[in-house]
Amino acid sequence: MPVERCPLCGGTDFALLYPSTLAKKREPASQYNCTSHGLGIHPDIFRCVDCSMVFNEAAPGANDVAGEYEQVEDPEYLAQRESRRLTFHRELDEIEKVHAKGTLLDVGCYTGFFLECARERGWQASGIEPSRWAARYASDELGFDVYNGPVERYSSDQSFDVVTLWDVLEHLPNPVEVLTILRRHVRDDGLLVFATHNLDHKVARVLGRHFPLFMEMHTVHFNNDTLGKLLDKTGFHLEKKHNQMRAVRLGYLLSRLRRFGAAPERIATAAVNALSLQDQILWTGLVGVETYFVRPV
Ligand SMILES: [Zn+2]
Repeated sequence: MPVERCPLCGGTDFALLYPSTLAKKREPASQYNCTSHGLGIHPDIFRCVDCSMVFNEAAPGANDVAGEYEQVEDPEYLAQRESRRLTFHRELDEIEKVHAKGTLLDVGCYTGFFLECARERGWQASGIEPSRWAARYASDELGFDVYNGPVERYSSDQSFDVVTLWDVLEHLPNPVEVLTILRRHVRDDGLLVFATHNLDHKVARVLGRHFPLFMEMHTVHFNNDTLGKLLDKTGFHLEKKHNQMRAVRLGYLLSRLRRFGAAPERIATAAVNALSLQDQILWTGLVGVETYFVRPV
């Protein structure tokens, strides 16, 4: 299904950048899960001739992407709690260098692990999450106030010291609309923080069309230029950014080898198990994801 308009400028003139790899697809049912293994599996990817925005061809049934996210259940993600928490605490260290603790809204809070880290440090944290399963986990298991639904239907008029989106922006078919909405929820002296992959990141530049974060569920792919245009359009300016360092359990990293076939995964897993290294935590800055701190203009 062709996209009708560029998700950044609304233009209608596109050029094919990378052809579809969907023929390699193995796991159709889990494509929207946070732990989805569909790395490098994507539909046709286009670049807008007018503004150079890079984006996926719309998925079949794209009108119901919101419905897909509502139905996501991802118990496998719970096993990543420890490594996700390490990553989130590191990001909170950075946030607290530039903004005093106060109220915080995490958009796409999933199971609430970031909210949990923020609360432990004294933030008053709440979330928005479309997945019923994940929102229920964050509210029932962790005790957070979570709005279960898409951000477009979030009707609160509250504004926050800090609004965060971790690995959310790239999933949005309408990033301009969502950041415009979120501008109303960031205090004038507040901070919006988001992490997303950047096509200007050295890993993305080296890998080109093989960059694994080209995926079905990642509908938009920004670079420095198009992110700047997004911020201009939505009333924010870039204060600073950093390469996101991510804590990953070695066992989880190995499960991601599946995309190269069963044999490499089996051999590497056997070696790691023999050495009892499954729970070893590695820090990597080579995911291609950057964290942006932006302020209202
Ligand atoms: Zn465009």
